Amino acid sequence: MDVQGLRKAFGELEVLRGIDFSVARGEVVCVIGPSGSGKSTLLRCVNLLEEPSAGRVVVAGTEVTDPDVDIDRVRRRIGMVFQSFNLFPHLTALENLTIAQRRVLRRDRTEAERIARANLERVGLSDKAAAYPAQLSGGQQQRVAIARALSMEPQLMLFDEPTSALDPELVGDVLAVMRSLAQEGMTMLVVTHEMSFAREVADRVVFMDGGVIVEQGTPEQVVGAPQHERTRTFLARVL
Ligand code: ATP
Ligand code: MG
Repeated sequence: MDVQGLRKAFGELEVLRGIDFSVARGEVVCVIGPSGSGKSTLLRCVNLLEEPSAGRVVVAGTEVTDPDVDIDRVRRRIGMVFQSFNLFPHLTALENLTIAQRRVLRRDRTEAERIARANLERVGLSDKAAAYPAQLSGGQQQRVAIARALSMEPQLMLFDEPTSALDPELVGDVLAVMRSLAQEGMTMLVVTHEMSFAREVADRVVFMDGGVIVEQGTPEQVVGAPQHERTRTFLARVL
């Protein structure tokens, strides 16, 4: 994934003011930064949930920002996991995983269920296939949401603070799933406040403030030995 000169304004408000960075295949990049710095907007521009005001976004060789692009085709290959789990409440975990496979990818029921069960197993929820979201803990719901995204066999996974709505004791299971995905070689762009995750799992950390990347580098560089005062101030608050 490659982002060049990305800008986004909402009216007068410039939220992204020229963002350049890339995520190589199999790489895990964590984005950190204060509230309002533009982290979610950046993620939403990558799959065109927001239309960039300027710049280029390329995902797995396809220019997302090309006006002629078939964005639905591109979005199929980008998994997104939000802070809120957004599961269908009237569908079981298994059905939540099969519905898009069947409707969007046109997989038949047997194939979709096979892939769904494999992904429920991947997130440690084989025994919850028949459960409805209301019967699951927040952490389990978030793992179902991850499994649902994985069932579409994405080339890139976007995570926007996937653990920040969870009770503290449920955060670990979700991070463990993300860690194992990273180890399997999934390409991941993760907005997170979990500094220990960023330190241990990220190949690179990007620190954003005020709509720009203030610094980026290895976790040792950015979290361990930040070069900029703004990064130090932020880390002093969250660490
Ligand atoms: P947080 O850590 O709180 O999630 P963030 O870094 O994800 O913050 P964004 O959600 O990207 O920040 O928001 C950046 C700025 O853009 C904020 O000032 C926000 O109010 C503004 N903004 C975001 N979406 C819109 C929108 N649809 N219309 C107008 N302003 C918006
Ligand atoms: Mg956000």
